[in-house]
Order: sequence, then structure tokens, then C-alpha cells
Amino acid sequence: MNEPSTLPPLTPSTLYLVATPIGNLEDITLRAIRVLRECDVIAAEDTRHTGVLLKHLGIQKTMISYHAHNEARRTQEIVERLERGEKVALVTDAGTPGISDPGERVVKAALTAGFRAEAVPGACALVAALTASGLPTTEFHFIGFLPHKSGQRRRELERLKTASGTLALYESPFRVEKLLGELAEVMPDRQVVLARELTKKFEEFLRGTPAELAELLEKRSVKGEFVVLIAPATDAAG
Ligand code: SAM
Repeated sequence: MNEPSTLPPLTPSTLYLVATPIGNLEDITLRAIRVLRECDVIAAEDTRHTGVLLKHLGIQKTMISYHAHNEARRTQEIVERLERGEKVALVTDAGTPGISDPGERVVKAALTAGFRAEAVPGACALVAALTASGLPTTEFHFIGFLPHKSGQRRRELERLKTASGTLALYESPFRVEKLLGELAEVMPDRQVVLARELTKKFEEFLRGTPAELAELLEKRSVKGEFVVLIAPATDAAG
């Protein structure tokens, strides 16, 4: 492997979208570590959370916060930094920036202003869940989080019923049982995979129909983070 000094330096005026671990701290690439070490500033969804990762990696770096509630203001600041030639790394609390996480707005603004955006790929809960689920991976439909309101959720699920490919959702641990109840009504015969606590100590994949999984969750108190995958309508083997 090349020594770090022989690697090309980071490109000035570039926004780096750096993927970070979704649980297991080993899931960060060598390039991600180098970008975090060599950039001028890290824009982080939660600077305290990222501070823990940086400490683990032995990196000391200026951080600014960039989250759902200050995106507009911080986007402006990040574009100004790119104008000054800075290399800006954007990270979120876990996984890939922009995937059900802040990022899209600043990428668009950077590109519009004529700057480069570069992905530093790595962990993403969607990809980890899908690839180990056993469900079809050729075509899939990622929804991210469903709306919170019951009526809107129901309408969205009814709409998705006819989508082709595997369906993939992110769901909070507080609503996963509610989701299974909804799926039991809208898509009762579909095979569902709950990918729980990916890359962590208690990782597991739970498989069954929505009703079977709802029963299982009722019996055991199952906590943690979930990706919910739903087999395509025609994939009975799921
Ligand atoms: N940007 C992240 C990514 O690349 O996966 C997703 C961030 S989103 C705010 C957080 C959601 O991702 C969680 O509610 C859960 O649905 C899913 N997630 C994140 N980490 C996970 C893990 N270790 N196991 C299962 N699901 C996870």
C-alpha cells in the first residue's frame, strides 16, 4: 500500500461527502480517514458525536455543525469556504451523508456555484441490509422514512404496494411495530426482513410475514435500529 505522503493531496475547493460507521467503528475506509485528517474543516451533523469518532481516529480538526435546522445558513458558509479554496468534509452521525440525512442541499449549492462534490463511499444501512437480506437486489425502491401521520403513511404504503422490486424503508424503533401492523393490512402476504442493529454486537435479520414479525416483536422486546425490507409482490420465496 502507498505511504500517505505519496498519495495525491486533496483537491482544493472540494466538498467531500464522507461515509462514517453505522455502528462498528472499523467500518471506515482508509480514504475517509485521510480526507478527515487532511481537510480544512469538517461539517458534522452533530459535532459532539463526530468528536468521539475523531478522537477514536486520533484526528484533531476544526468542526462546524451542519444539520436539518441550520442547513440553509451553513450551506452559505460552506460555499464561501469553497470559494476561499478550502477542502470541506461533510459527515453525518452515521453512514452516508444525504441518505435520509443532511447533505443534499449543500451538494446542490456547491455544484451550482461551480465547485466539485466528491463521494468518499462507505457504510450505508440501506446497502448493508439489502445485500444480506436474501431479497432481490437487482431492482429496489428506497423510501427512507415514512411520514409520521397515520393517514399519510397509509396512503404512501398503498402507493408503494404496486412498485416493482424490493422495498426498503428506514424506521425508528418506536414505530417499527406500528409499521408491521400497517403492512399486515396493506401487504399481508409479502415477506418482510427486519435488519436490526447492523454491524453491531446484536445484529440480526428477522424474516416472516408482517403478522408473524409483529407477533415476534410482541413476545420479545426488540430494540435498536431497523431497516425494513419488503419482498416484491411476485417473490414468494422472499
Ligand atoms: N445516512 C444513514 C445511512 O447511510 O444509512 C442513515 C441515517 S438515518 C437518519 C438513520 C436510520 O438508518 C435509522 O433509523 C435506521 O432505520 C437506519 N440505520 C442506521 N444505522 C443502522 C444500523 N446499524 N442498523 C440498522 N439500521 C440502521
